[in-house]
Amino acid sequence: MRPLIVGNWKMHGTQAGAFRLARAIARSLQRRRPVAEVVLAPPFTALAVARTAIRRGPIRLAGQNCCWQEAGAFTGEVSPVMLRDLGCAFVILGHSERRRLFGENDRLIAQKLAAARKAGLRPILCVGETLAERRKGLTGGVVTRQLNVALKGLDKNDIGKVEIAYEPVWAIGTGRNATPEQVGEVHRRIRRWVERFFGAAAAGQTRILYGGSVNAENAPLLASVPEVNGFLVGGASLQAGSFLSIVRCYGDR
Ligand code: PEP
Repeated sequence: MRPLIVGNWKMHGTQAGAFRLARAIARSLQRRRPVAEVVLAPPFTALAVARTAIRRGPIRLAGQNCCWQEAGAFTGEVSPVMLRDLGCAFVILGHSERRRLFGENDRLIAQKLAAARKAGLRPILCVGETLAERRKGLTGGVVTRQLNVALKGLDKNDIGKVEIAYEPVWAIGTGRNATPEQVGEVHRRIRRWVERFFGAAAAGQTRILYGGSVNAENAPLLASVPEVNGFLVGGASLQAGSFLSIVRCYGDR
């Protein structure tokens, strides 16, 4: 399974800065092609310039979120169809910042996921527990609930077009990554969940990414966990050097 590295730029950068960052990453990856598949998720306002910057590169684009509707009176929203139109192949859904700061619940995320699939986007579904939930021993139950609501209704043919990112909320932007043991345990649980509802073949093909304070230093160890199929990277994706080191920890082609 080809590893996947996604750079989530969150709400950072002007068009000029986004162009420079995307171009620096693309140029390096054009010179030496990586083993990993690489996806950048700039803010909506920078998708068009990022698209120009990666024109010749082996990089694809993601939206950081999308609406559950195709079009209509939804002021301030961006639809999955619009993301496709801008050249996106992926969309991040259910990020903990969307859940926590914007009140997104599992049901809404399920609707967004269905809309994204309908528009031909590959959703990157984020799941993960808070620190309080982990301390209470609820990690497994929380992740299972998030998967149940978001994915259970998915068409069998669509599970192969979904990426799952395990992102413990307490590890996001905190500089405190989950240990390889913690990551392995939750990833195995996620894979067993996919097997239970979609079969062994689907489970074997589903990419499960880890996200939460991944950086150039800890990436090689986390990448060595057999259940980890890549990373969703926030802070460290804002510098070409650190992001490229993470990408290259899976080697070059
Ligand atoms: C994220 O935003 O998905 C993320 C994992 O952020 P960070 O790498 O900064 O923890």
